[in-house]
Amino acid sequence: MQITDHPGQIRARVTQALTDAGRAGDDVRVVAVSKQHSAESIRRLFASGITDFGESYLDEALPKLDELSGLDITWHFIGRIQANKTRAIAERFHWVHSLDRERVARRLDAQRPDHAEPLNVLIQVNLANEPQKGGVDPGQATDLAGCVADLPRLRLRGLMGIAPVAYSGQESLEYFATLRMLHDELRAAGHSLDTLSMGMSGDFQAAIAAGSNCVRIGTALFGPRSR
Ligand SMILES: *Cc1c(COP(=O)(O)O)cnc(C)c1O
Repeated sequence: MQITDHPGQIRARVTQALTDAGRAGDDVRVVAVSKQHSAESIRRLFASGITDFGESYLDEALPKLDELSGLDITWHFIGRIQANKTRAIAERFHWVHSLDRERVARRLDAQRPDHAEPLNVLIQVNLANEPQKGGVDPGQATDLAGCVADLPRLRLRGLMGIAPVAYSGQESLEYFATLRMLHDELRAAGHSLDTLSMGMSGDFQAAIAAGSNCVRIGTALFGPRSR
């Protein structure tokens, strides 16, 4: 597979989506979601200029982080967080997109090494009330944001959401617009948020139209996953 051709195409589509949204010149962070893909595939993508990578499963991710420790990669943890497995996330990752409870926030704060920059944190919001997905109810986001803001080893940067796969273009657009409103409300309440992580391979244009500045792209960069 010619994966080295994809990053430029994705960049071009992101730029086009920004232009279509009247946001030409804005910056969007592209996080390459490398779950189920090898360290070697990550190395190839890194060589083509992608520096942000996202992983969902800690046990799968850690050997890849070890193997690629010589590369200047910004690692994002985007999967469900088990409360008893926070230490490796606190020690090895730069960003967490999937924070959804206070207990995990407190553990990540306590376990973030002193020599490291504070851990960048996004609160995941479960807008469509899907039980199989992580994320806080929208009504709980304010309380969790208040908790994270008081923890010195965490830096609250924004929100993350995953639109239901069954959604059409218009439904995803509304979903993302609602998340963006919640983000704006938290900012109005005094939180200095700058990151709205929404959009994946199938819906990143809608997410960018609604104000996303961080997209998490797996399939469109690496090709299909096996499961
Ligand atoms: C797997 C995953 C992605 C990437 O999905 P694609 O459809 O392959 O782009 C993005 N975000 C999260 C949270 C994921 O688990």
